[in-house]
Amino acid sequence: MPDGDVIEEIFAAFRERGATAYLGEPVSLAEHMLQTALAAENDGADPVMVASALLHDYGHLVHDLPEDSASNGVDTLHEEAGAAWLELHFTPRVTEPLRLHVLAKRYLCAVEPEYLAALSPASRLSLQLQGGPCSPAEVAAFEAGPFGVEAVRLRRWDDVGKIAGLATPPLEHYRPALEAGLRAR
Ligand code: FE
Repeated sequence: MPDGDVIEEIFAAFRERGATAYLGEPVSLAEHMLQTALAAENDGADPVMVASALLHDYGHLVHDLPEDSASNGVDTLHEEAGAAWLELHFTPRVTEPLRLHVLAKRYLCAVEPEYLAALSPASRLSLQLQGGPCSPAEVAAFEAGPFGVEAVRLRRWDDVGKIAGLATPPLEHYRPALEAGLRAR
């Protein structure tokens, strides 16, 4: 698929499927992903990290499991589904932070008690399905592995991208960031 078509396909998925609820949060999935990208921009992230932030929950748009899966005790593994699709087109600097964004949450819950305490109710529910806080061995492996720092940054933008009614730039504003994150051909 040509690169321009990839971005069009992503925008179409946002428009066609992004209006679904982000379960338990006061924003839709598309609003949540746009707010996460805006938080990255406001934090001075480079365009490739902004692309990762925008796409971090893309797996929720491409899988076919119902949005209330967490409340039914099902972990949809959306981070793997999203990364597996996106890595066909985008560099690891886009896909690896988002692949790790759930692990980053489990990591932060282990190393920052105040982080765990501040999780939203929905995020606390999904944490249990995702395996709970990291074990000490998982903490060490996360810190030693690649893209851990980027995944933690992404996670913090993710956590603030849940504000009802917050205005964001439109999808088209992020086209250059997405283009910056495409694999070299
Ligand atoms: Fe998210």
